[in-house]
Amino acid sequence: MIDKTVMTFHEKFRQYDLGEGHPFRGDRFVNAMRFFEGQGLLGLSEISVVKPEAVSKKELLMVHEERYVNLIFRLAEERKPYDIETPVSPEILEAALLVVGGSITCGKAVFEGKAKRAISLGGGYHHAGRNYGGGFCLFNDVAVLVEYLRCNYDVNRFLILDYDVHFGNGTSDIYYRDPSVLYISLHQDPRTLYPGTGFVWQIGEGAGEGYNVNVPLPPGTGDDTYLYALEKVFVPLAEEFQPDVVIANGGSDAHFADMLGDLGLTVNGFFRLSRLIRETSNKVCDGKFILIPGSGYNPKVLPFCWYALVAGAIGLEEINVKEPYTPPVEPAFCRKKVEETVAELKGLLKKKWKCFR
Ligand SMILES: [Zn+2]
Repeated sequence: MIDKTVMTFHEKFRQYDLGEGHPFRGDRFVNAMRFFEGQGLLGLSEISVVKPEAVSKKELLMVHEERYVNLIFRLAEERKPYDIETPVSPEILEAALLVVGGSITCGKAVFEGKAKRAISLGGGYHHAGRNYGGGFCLFNDVAVLVEYLRCNYDVNRFLILDYDVHFGNGTSDIYYRDPSVLYISLHQDPRTLYPGTGFVWQIGEGAGEGYNVNVPLPPGTGDDTYLYALEKVFVPLAEEFQPDVVIANGGSDAHFADMLGDLGLTVNGFFRLSRLIRETSNKVCDGKFILIPGSGYNPKVLPFCWYALVAGAIGLEEINVKEPYTPPVEPAFCRKKVEETVAELKGLLKKKWKCFR
């Protein structure tokens, strides 16, 4: 029997369009689907595309404070922005609720045995915390997924791998004191990028100490060094933590041609990254893996990268797409800097994790 993968998509995702001139445009979702179609991905018997339902207010309240949720609903009605780069309208709100609903649908599919893996297209709103939004994010679908699984199934240990170019400050905040969620984030050095936090020394607090793992990467970091960091940090921690599920979020903004970030991943790098997560989840949690690709601000490379991520998750052996631009050479200092960061991280976390001793 082949392993099934459910992928959630809704035409109304296009309403998550933050306006003319804004880097977050609503056509990303359908453009990615069209590219998947052209690559023959949607015809594979492994994949079934499912239309999600909107998340309910009650489900949002598993993560978010009521006052904050009410604020967003009110701003939507009044068509007022949450902040300068995060507009809100009834259409954006409707799409946001469908995207979060998609992540819940993915969780259900995996834990009701309908699929081994699932892909929540368009999600990963990791800058939203319990009582704040920002950075284009209103509700944190990753955390809602975690809480939905915790409430409805026997799922107690979650590993979130955040490979977005930006640090997921919202997700990190929500679980900073929670040892049931191991949050690992690889992102561009926060001194050079929004949201300006996500340092190595931010390792969690109280019972959650050691369960927040940040790997800041210097601008220019390319595939091999990125994969090196994953092999040294994500893989051993996953093996020791033994999660019930691996949830991975991030779109294409770590690609070298992205307009908002300065990391140096290629399309093939995203494929390798996704395959590694799949292999690791096969080893540690019977393959339970939920992929959430959503970000990306270069519309030309976005479909390529999302395709590479999806192809890696479903287990394709190779992809046959040509990198749209010529990749740069990684600056010489990057590898050394990342090796130092990994060593520093191990020193900070060795009390908690045997694999780092
Ligand atoms: Zn991002």
